[in-house]
Amino acid sequence: MAARGDGAWITDAEGNRYLDAAGGAIVVNVGHGDREIARVMSEQAARLAYVHGTAFTTEAMEAYADELAPLLPVDDPRIYPVSGGSEAVETALKLARAFHLARGDTERHRVIARWGSYHGNTLGALDASGRMPLRAPYRPWLGRVNHIPAVNEYRCPFPQHPSGCGAAHAEELDRAIRELGPESVAAFIAEPIVGATLGAAVPPDDYWPAIREVCDRHGVVLIADEVMTGFGRTGAWFGLDHWATRADILVAGKGVSSGYWPLGLAAASDEIYRTVRDSGGFVHGFTASHHPVGAAVGRAVLQRLRDDDLVEASRTKGELLLKWLHAAIGDQERVGDIRGRGLMVGIELVRDRDTKTPFPREEQVTERLVGAARERGLLLYPSTGCADGVLGDLVMLGPPFTITEAEIVEVVERLVSALGTI
Ligand code: PMP
Repeated sequence: MAARGDGAWITDAEGNRYLDAAGGAIVVNVGHGDREIARVMSEQAARLAYVHGTAFTTEAMEAYADELAPLLPVDDPRIYPVSGGSEAVETALKLARAFHLARGDTERHRVIARWGSYHGNTLGALDASGRMPLRAPYRPWLGRVNHIPAVNEYRCPFPQHPSGCGAAHAEELDRAIRELGPESVAAFIAEPIVGATLGAAVPPDDYWPAIREVCDRHGVVLIADEVMTGFGRTGAWFGLDHWATRADILVAGKGVSSGYWPLGLAAASDEIYRTVRDSGGFVHGFTASHHPVGAAVGRAVLQRLRDDDLVEASRTKGELLLKWLHAAIGDQERVGDIRGRGLMVGIELVRDRDTKTPFPREEQVTERLVGAARERGLLLYPSTGCADGVLGDLVMLGPPFTITEAEIVEVVERLVSALGTI
């Protein structure tokens, strides 16, 4: 039972301390136990805790939107706040459809996503996701979203790899759009750097500009799922910033509130917003969307990121973490790959480094590693299926950006010790 959080640490009810190298589920960007954020949240709740978004906007909401907008890699963005990543993805998908309908493109309804991706657990978002173990029980309800290959440089299938992979992926998207009929395709959705499904898989540098060009050519709305990569996690404000690419709709969650409030949002370009608004509005909404307390928390998190220069901290500390991980475990037999950007890092474990053969699932390598780490007071974020949908073991590290260098050393030491047991 978790009792308290402070910086990069969680204390349980028995007084055991855990170094939270996973930031929960790669959520807690600004650290646990931030008194100022708690104060702002409580003050907003006392002043005005709730109004329904169809009746009022609030000062908290407007101030947050004004501060956030210039940071987003979206043209003149308009913000639709919800309660988490999955809701934000649903909002983005429906908004893309609403945009095409408003322009008279009534046939555009298809969505293209990628295998080896995750967009959420509600049915629309799950259908976009390419993470097999999560899809399997619900397969009869899925199947409307079309998938193109995963972007996974460690296991890239293109014969010309590593040169020209971005162009090859863009061709796959182009082919999928042409096969489906461009007049029927509404949106393409993808994570700028793949999160839990592939463990911080960074695309090649030519990938995002080429994808942007394909979407533009076919009039397809580009949705960037920045639920994990957003708000400094990768050492830039947003993942797309690494490639100077802009989305038509951006989706955020997790770090948007650093876990202090269940918050997510979809941000659309002004063109999309105006087109939908002028045609009668967006048929959508949740009881808890546009929540004033969520907006106040989101704004306080922005302020913390800015005041303490935490996006830059994520970049520099991420470089240190990667460097020290390579030095400590880079040569180990079972460590196939160490990858990531900023403080979003993945470690893939393999039975054979030369052939990249994964462990059999029965060996439960990920589960055993996470258990051994926990016994050593280290929290990791696990995932399986990165090699072929079922096989493939990995852990992710995504500590708060406030983690100290001494604590990073401790993360690496505890991880080395835990790895020694599997
Ligand atoms: N998209 C991505 C990239 C995610 O990592 C997640 C959560 N792991 C989601 C969407 C879904 O967010 P939530 O769990 O808040 O619904």
